[in-house]
Amino acid sequence: MLKDTFRTFDDIAEYNNYKVLEAFGECGIAARHMSGSTGYGYSDEGRDKLGELFARTMATESALVSPLIASGTHAITTALFGVLRPGDVVLSLTGKPYDTLRGVVYKSGGGSLPDFGIQFNDIPILDGGKLDVQSALELIKKDKRIKVVYFQRSRGYEWRASIIVSEINNALREIREEFPNIISMVDNCYGEFVEKEEPCADVLIGSLIKNPGAGIAPTGGYIAGKEELIERISERLTCPGIGREIGSYQSGYIQFYQGLFFAPGVVRNALCGAALTAAVFESLGCDVSPGSHDFRTDITQAIKLCSAERMLELTRAVQQSSPIDSMATPYPWDMPGYQSQVVMAAGTFVQGGSIELSADGPMKDPFIVFMQGGLMLEQVKVALLEYLDKALRK
Ligand SMILES: *Cc1c(COP(=O)(O)O)cnc(C)c1O
Repeated sequence: MLKDTFRTFDDIAEYNNYKVLEAFGECGIAARHMSGSTGYGYSDEGRDKLGELFARTMATESALVSPLIASGTHAITTALFGVLRPGDVVLSLTGKPYDTLRGVVYKSGGGSLPDFGIQFNDIPILDGGKLDVQSALELIKKDKRIKVVYFQRSRGYEWRASIIVSEINNALREIREEFPNIISMVDNCYGEFVEKEEPCADVLIGSLIKNPGAGIAPTGGYIAGKEELIERISERLTCPGIGREIGSYQSGYIQFYQGLFFAPGVVRNALCGAALTAAVFESLGCDVSPGSHDFRTDITQAIKLCSAERMLELTRAVQQSSPIDSMATPYPWDMPGYQSQVVMAAGTFVQGGSIELSADGPMKDPFIVFMQGGLMLEQVKVALLEYLDKALRK
């Protein structure tokens, strides 16, 4: 049933693998670049080459790639603070940003954007995953303080469509035509290598424990984009006047290079797993988003289970089918920042790494589980069989 869908994912993986390999060649990546450094990390060639490699792969001028970037949220926050100055306004065309960013962009306290007199405004996505470019253009015309337009490609933990790359690029073209000086930023988390091209934004940001790390990179994030902006952001990542001259990592960079090399294939596996999951739950009569045959721009799969019991069964089946911590039983708990309890399954090699098979969601009606990742399609099959076996027995 999914043969054609899987073939599409194969085709994209082949294209992206070629793109990555070509970038390795053009950057002249050599054995010595795998070595690490200590202390300040002056002239750390492995670090600098890794940035160059990501920039080529993402088709940008420059990139910061670092294990010192602690998470995706840290990467996005660093980029925002690097580019914005007091009095500036950000306009999001994809509604409210990902949960963990809300304390950074809306809430006063702790040195958030509002603490520095920087405002974050958002306009909602239109039906069918369309961006409201007309409203954005009107707002930018009226408010000269708007310096950055912001997009979140993936759905995050919302029952909404993810935004496909061509939709983001069309919006960028229209906005740049009227306002050539506006800076664009895309939260690219979960999106890398799902399509043949990445969004053509001025700044692209993502996490290395998701798609581009392939489950091999142990931590880190990337910020890729225009040279001038990346330079400015590097002065926020470390210090003004010092920027990317420093930053060491003694363990070396082999896992980051290897992660990028494997990423297109691993993303393909995750996509096959997501489409299969969608097909299985469609056949059980559940609402899923996206559908098994839909075009995808990220690796997430949302399933409306409509029952607390099924939600526990599915997350427990995922946990039980994991290589690490398979003996653990997921229970709903009161997570900081959420209104209802949240249940999470993740038996991953890299702690919290969600390019590995994971499933989670808030315990509230209509009981939506978000499933993503899967380094191997075979593991996703085991988890689905585990769930079906229990459910059908019942
Ligand atoms: C994962 C993710 C982030 C960043 O999350 P971290 O947990 O801080 O790495 C931001 N946006 C989206 C859409 C994400 O999926």
